[in-house]
Formats: sequence, C-alpha cells, structure tokens
Amino acid sequence: MKLEDLPRFTVHEIHEADPEGNSLIIGHFADLRGVCGTHGYLYRAHGPSIMGDLEAIPTSIAEPVRFRTADAGYAPDLKAGAAYPWLDGSWKPYHLKMVLSPAARWQPRSFSATPVRFFLLDGVTGWQPMDATLPQGATDLGVRSGDWNHACCELCPEQLEAARSSEGYVDDDGRWICAHCFEKYAKRNDISFAIGNDG
Ligand SMILES: [Zn+2]
Repeated sequence: MKLEDLPRFTVHEIHEADPEGNSLIIGHFADLRGVCGTHGYLYRAHGPSIMGDLEAIPTSIAEPVRFRTADAGYAPDLKAGAAYPWLDGSWKPYHLKMVLSPAARWQPRSFSATPVRFFLLDGVTGWQPMDATLPQGATDLGVRSGDWNHACCELCPEQLEAARSSEGYVDDDGRWICAHCFEKYAKRNDISFAIGNDG
C-alpha cells in the first residue's frame, strides 16, 4: 500500500484562526477506509504534518468534513484545492516517513544479553561482541551491558529482547522494528499498517 492509497482529504475552505489559534478547515474525504478516529494528520512528506481533529467522522464521502487544527500556519501549501493523505492519530507522521524511506536505511541487528562493545562508524553507532576486532575506521565507545537489551517494535507490539535473541532492524534515526515488520512493511515501502490492514 502506498501513500496515495490513504484516505485523501481535499481542502475546500479555510477559516482563519480563532483567538485560540485554531483554524477550521472544511473539505471532504475521497475514501473513508482508514478514517477510524477523529484525531489525525494531514500528512505532508516535506515539512511538518498538520495535526488536528475532525468534528465528526463522516458517514459518507459526500459529507463535508470539518477539521480543526492549530498547525495551519506551518503549511504554506494549505489552500483551497490542496489535498493530503489522512493519517489516523494512532500513528505518527514519522511512522510513514520511516517505512517509505529506502529499505537500505535499515540495518539488521540482533539483541544480545551479553556485554557488547559499542563503536561509532561513519556517524552511526553500532555494536559487536566484546572481543571482536573493531571495524576499520571505527571509534571505540566502550563496553556496555544491562538495560539497553530490549526495545519495542515501532509498528507492532513485538518486544525485541536479548533473552529471545530477537532479530530486528534499526534505522539511521535509531528507531527499531522487528524482522516481521521489516519484511512486511519497510522492505516493500508498504504502509498498510496505517489503515489497520493486517492482510
Ligand atoms: Zn513489528
């Protein structure tokens, strides 16, 4: 599933911010699949997304939609006629961004319960078994053990734990996903998680 497959919100009218700084955007959805809650984002790939709340979830695509946001000022492109993918508020814009970015940004890693040596190579922090030779050009950051040995997958409830020697993937921003979510979503730039599609 691609960005274009998210429910598309087209802007009709913009009512300037009230004294609390909230603008009212009136528009419509082209598709209601994936419009599950009132809180969400008009997703912008370049720049901050527009976070806000629908006054009500429309029951048909013919129904005008009223969306309130305090973020209108961040988006110079927000004008009548503009259209944005709608992201349900149970996700964050960075979830889309990280899954849509090239799969090569993800590095496979496995968790280890034993102490490991951290190093810095080309601006990226890595780790390896304590007694292994450092990669060429790497800066030794020392041996650490203990509380870093688990992480949560960003996309599912999977816990990546040393105890189970889980395999996972970490991106340049230090975000973890499990091997399953890497195969299913990140590797294929598939964002179907965003509309709760487990298929
Ligand atoms: Zn996962």
